[in-house]
Amino acid sequence: MEVENVPGVADVIIVGAGLSGLATAYYLQKKGIEALLLEARDRVGGRIHTVEAKGNATPVEMGATWFADKHRYFMQLLQELEVPHFHQFQKGIGVFETHPAEEVQLFQVPDTEEASLRVAGGTSQLIEALLSKVGKEKVVLSSAVSNITEQGDLVEVTCQTGQSFKSRQVVVTVPPYLVSQKLAFEPALPEGVLKVMQQTHTWMGESVKFAVEYASPFWRQKGYSGSVFSHVGPIQEMYDHCNFENTKYALKGFLSAGAAALNREEREQAVLQQLIKLFGPEAAAHVSYTDKPWIKEPFSYAEYKSYVSPHQYNGHPIYAQPLMNGKLFLSGTETSPVFGGYMDGAVYSGLSAAENVLRQRNI
Ligand SMILES: Cc1cc2nc3c(=O)[nH]c(=O)nc-3n(C[C@H](O)[C@H](O)[C@H](O)COP(=O)(O)OP(=O)(O)OC[C@H]3O[C@@H](n4cnc5c(N)ncnc54)[C@H](O)[C@@H]3O)c2cc1C
Repeated sequence: MEVENVPGVADVIIVGAGLSGLATAYYLQKKGIEALLLEARDRVGGRIHTVEAKGNATPVEMGATWFADKHRYFMQLLQELEVPHFHQFQKGIGVFETHPAEEVQLFQVPDTEEASLRVAGGTSQLIEALLSKVGKEKVVLSSAVSNITEQGDLVEVTCQTGQSFKSRQVVVTVPPYLVSQKLAFEPALPEGVLKVMQQTHTWMGESVKFAVEYASPFWRQKGYSGSVFSHVGPIQEMYDHCNFENTKYALKGFLSAGAAALNREEREQAVLQQLIKLFGPEAAAHVSYTDKPWIKEPFSYAEYKSYVSPHQYNGHPIYAQPLMNGKLFLSGTETSPVFGGYMDGAVYSGLSAAENVLRQRNI
């Protein structure tokens, strides 16, 4: 069956419009191949999610934030799309809480050899840049894929909405564990692939991110770096989160996993109490509080049936095998042998998936 230019048949369908899926679409477009992206959420970006609590507020990262020079595929993409980056602020006194009964320990944050970097304006700037290249009209939002079926030379992709699409090739960028739990394949995926997926942890899926915005960076004015490490909680780890221009001010970090069981107001109060204890009464006068327990995000997290060790199966060679006779590819950061779980892995997997699609067509 000749499938080229068949009306109603997409060239390539990409399942998931996070960094990996959008990167694949971008790399394919550079080779003249247009892809259709099906995204479960009502937004693009997946585990990249920059939020502005109120109009004109500090952009705060509820998902991916930091990277370094060693993340060369990610750095290359930033450069290519002319998305600027800057250094994470960490100058000054850091705070370490060991035990509720112990005095808080203060230390001078050392200058690290390897700088931690952030995207100016927020990591979602990269997602926006990719989206504007790929074209908004190529993404179908609120379309959670449930079934992927081989049909001769084509693949049919069906969404929970009942809508279905056909294409010559499909790239799945959904985290592998979620694929194993929520997507049905016909014919079924090889047993070996399923087994590896069931043991591949979704990086950061259990984390609880929070950010507190202030009218001024009072901690900097008192000599603090904003860095906190705590065994007391609920804040476990925190950093300065002022914007690139240094005109908007925030602190941002991770809460203990147990904080997901509290409601938002309880988390906000507990965070403010801890900040007041560590930085003084100025911490009470916040402008906004934002948080995100990722465990409550069904398109990033599904409960594991047994303990799954983070990073252990990232980039397993089985993920590189084409499926459905070269029509189906597994992608996304967890499939990447290069910095799997991280944004760099997402970009690398995006590039690999595009190369796999092209290789099957002898391009
Ligand atoms: C809190 C947090 C902090 C992080 N911090 C960092 C950091 O500092 N540095 C770093 O490098 N990385 C960090 N990461 C990891 C980084 O976010 C990921 O590596 C990267 O965003 C993964 O991109 P991806 O496209 O592979 O996957 P995802 O972003 O998970 O994209 C998959 C997409 O598929 C969609 N989807 C899911 N199910 C379906 C379905 N059934 N049908 C259709 N679409 C579906 C999802 O909605 C999503 O948009 C962090 C992640 C989190 C959650």
